[in-house]
Amino acid sequence: MSPAPAPFGTVAIIGLGLIGGSIGLAVRDHIPGTHTTGFDADPAVRERARERRLADVVCETAEEAVRDADLVIFCVPVGAIAAVARDLAPFIPQGALISDVGSSKQTIAMALGEIFPANPVVPAHPVAGTEQSGPDAGFATLFQQRWCIITPPEGADAGSVARLFSFWEALGAMVETMDPQHHDLVLAVTSHIPHLIAYTIVGTASDLEDVTRSEVIKYSAGGFRDFTRIAASDPTMWRDVFLNNRDAVLVMLRRFTGDLSIMEKAIREGDGDALFELFTRTRAIRRSIVALGQDDARPDFGRTDHKG
Ligand code: NAP
Repeated sequence: MSPAPAPFGTVAIIGLGLIGGSIGLAVRDHIPGTHTTGFDADPAVRERARERRLADVVCETAEEAVRDADLVIFCVPVGAIAAVARDLAPFIPQGALISDVGSSKQTIAMALGEIFPANPVVPAHPVAGTEQSGPDAGFATLFQQRWCIITPPEGADAGSVARLFSFWEALGAMVETMDPQHHDLVLAVTSHIPHLIAYTIVGTASDLEDVTRSEVIKYSAGGFRDFTRIAASDPTMWRDVFLNNRDAVLVMLRRFTGDLSIMEKAIREGDGDALFELFTRTRAIRRSIVALGQDDARPDFGRTDHKG
């Protein structure tokens, strides 16, 4: 049986960091019929992207990168997407599908819809990443067995949605469509609040007295170091996520602080049953994440330095 035709002939990737670079590498591995062009605002990133062949052609201008594109994917921080898209709009061919990979969707979907009234716009969010950023961080298998959530606007052209769907499936992702508002609520609790908690707890530790802080680092395997991995994530990206997904984050934060107060009360009052009941429920959630293949079941995430 011959392979399915590539959903897009030329894909322009704007922003060649972790996500943009991984898309370029994954396209080369998985959709051989597709030509990629890339651009990044930073000349040093463009140079490194050429060395790593993150796109077939790394262009010196964004205009050049999008000129013949069938699909344009904005892979820059959420706060930069609208401005970059507005600058490039006059150079993007009519009919090219416009998409992005931003971690929050509602504000971006609205902005892209306004900027491109005549092009099909289908925003997306690959729920895959690491705490690394930049042109050295990307790898071709980043999206394998990870979800990519597509958030088409109401009345979006079904053919364009289906093409983007097959594009992400070809990169190895499991694809789901969702309303942008619902996406932002779900991601607030599964990604944005966990990052906020990690940033806060690591910040609290760094504000401790010198002696205690050095002990926190020394004994970090007790749990703290797993927060430090998340808290090492890119500051620009995460600043933009919180500024753009403010409403959903505040809803979930209110809920979380309420639940935290319930835990505080249980500890103060010695209510072991309440603590045990919650910890039993949360353990079941961890097991279902592992059962769905979304994490490693080995102790300590399979770290090689695990001593048992
Ligand atoms: P990244 O590694 O920092 O890459 C972003 C790249 O875009 C950087 O090289 C940056 O250059 C460049 N850039 C910034 N402004 C630009 C502009 N105006 N024109 C062209 N290039 C520009 O970040 P990333 O992790 O790939 O994130 C990119 C997008 O993916 C964000 O919207 C993020 O929300 C989303 N996302 C990230 C993850 C994750 O885990 N990291 C997961 C899913 C989705 P400078 O560094 O010089 O500014």
